[in-house]
Amino acid sequence: MEQKEDKLKEVISHAKEYGFVFPSSEIYDGLAATYDYGQLGSELKNNIKSYWWKSMVQMHDNIVGIDASIFMHPTTWKASGHVDAFNDPLIDNKDSKKRYRADVLIEEHIEKIRQKIEKEVEKGSKKFGDSFDEAQFRVTNPNVLRNAQKIEEIENRMRQTLEDNDLEGVYNLIVDLEIVCPISGSKNWTEVRQFNLMFSTELGSVAGDASTIYLRPETAQGIFVNFLNVQKSGRMKIPFGIAQIGKAFRNEIVARQFIFRMREFEQMEMQFFVRPGEEMKWYEYWKETRSNWHKKLGLGDHNYRFHDHIKLAHYANAAADIEFNFPMGFKELEGIHSRTDFDLKQHEQFSGKKLQYFDPELNQNYVPYVVETSVGLDRMFLAVLSASYKNEKLEDGSERAVLSIPAALAPIKVAVMPLTKKDGLPEKAMEVLNLLKFDYNCQYDEKDSPGKRYRRQDAIGTPFCVMIDHQTMEDNTVTIRDRDTMEQIRVAISELNGIIDQKVNIRTLLQ
Ligand code: ATP
Repeated sequence: MEQKEDKLKEVISHAKEYGFVFPSSEIYDGLAATYDYGQLGSELKNNIKSYWWKSMVQMHDNIVGIDASIFMHPTTWKASGHVDAFNDPLIDNKDSKKRYRADVLIEEHIEKIRQKIEKEVEKGSKKFGDSFDEAQFRVTNPNVLRNAQKIEEIENRMRQTLEDNDLEGVYNLIVDLEIVCPISGSKNWTEVRQFNLMFSTELGSVAGDASTIYLRPETAQGIFVNFLNVQKSGRMKIPFGIAQIGKAFRNEIVARQFIFRMREFEQMEMQFFVRPGEEMKWYEYWKETRSNWHKKLGLGDHNYRFHDHIKLAHYANAAADIEFNFPMGFKELEGIHSRTDFDLKQHEQFSGKKLQYFDPELNQNYVPYVVETSVGLDRMFLAVLSASYKNEKLEDGSERAVLSIPAALAPIKVAVMPLTKKDGLPEKAMEVLNLLKFDYNCQYDEKDSPGKRYRRQDAIGTPFCVMIDHQTMEDNTVTIRDRDTMEQIRVAISELNGIIDQKVNIRTLLQ
């Protein structure tokens, strides 16, 4: 645990030191759970967005993108259920005065039991060596079975109490499991209460309920209310999708863990409209497609797992998370939800307008079903940053901090450097930079020794460094150094574009 926390701390301080992420309004001591992306962070963020947008919109001829406003008519949130049901169950520890989400406390308790199972399996594997049959062990070992049953019982109780909005039941579960506050270590809990997560504000100058509007807590509703606009104007045929990237706001209670849980964050969502009855097929399709999208980044397949929801949101008939192995452990990165026709039907009812599709093949009108994929841009950022950050020991005994960010996402693609500051090398280096900057984000660096400059570029994840030396002045060749292998090869300036493009082009991720 300590090691994990250290890793997160290291990532946070690296992100700040090199201009990726700063605490918001830091000169006033910051504002809890809000962060600013710096000069390199905003580049990385844009590149992640671009990877998502291109793979969704550009690579699918039946998906189009929109950009809806953050403010929406307040009735939107009554129809969507957010005014009544977008709540978190909260509990306070009376000794530490810390506030927790009750369901998160219980889930963390379950995770601990799950880890016990994994330890038991590991022990078995060591004991039996090559003859170890893991599947068999998991269904026969008494300790594993006992713990698996415990998990099932807790999950059932949690689902039931949450579904019934039985807050006393949730409290009793926490007491029965003897869950203690991670800070104070005590079991001195308050009762469990519901807390709405939407931020509200006033529209115009008229006071009173009628002018209360909300900052959208999800981007999805901007898509639902535009369903017919897009379908008609784009002559879209079902199945088709609408994609969007935009800000969302939630008054999160447990707002810790850096950019993992923020009060203002960005979502990349896609609503896929399908024929009723075909939603499960598409749900499976999008689970697999989205999982492949993540794995293509090369952050390690073992860092992803699916988690099927036990408590379904009010709108869903199936839901799964793609979890990522963050420095704090496996946590939700993306949600895939089968939302049925809930949202469109609700908007039909509240607006009095028909939101239906005429299916020419079936010769029939219906309200489409929706499968949604929803990934947090900031969580993607943290996944890429934390999995890429390494402190490597080199053969000569020295160390380097390197961000092995997927080359296509790297903020700076090429650093151009003159070996020395004289003999016309800087001018030549500028010439090379001026050639490359039309295609790539480049950086010019002439300060310090080449070794130091290479380390600086490694630390921000630059895939290539191009060095201009005295030989360049004679034959127009340069050395190009690869971030990952640290190897340098000499090539003609005219070859640079081809070499760089092969590695950093977003095509490498989309293919
Ligand atoms: P959690 O259970 O972690 O609160 P959620 O299930 O409420 O998340 P969704 O409503 O499914 O999240 O939102 C879709 C995605 O938006 C999440 O998978 C996550 O990547 C991102 N997201 C949600 N809340 C936040 C937040 N407070 N900060 C950053 N990203 C978030």
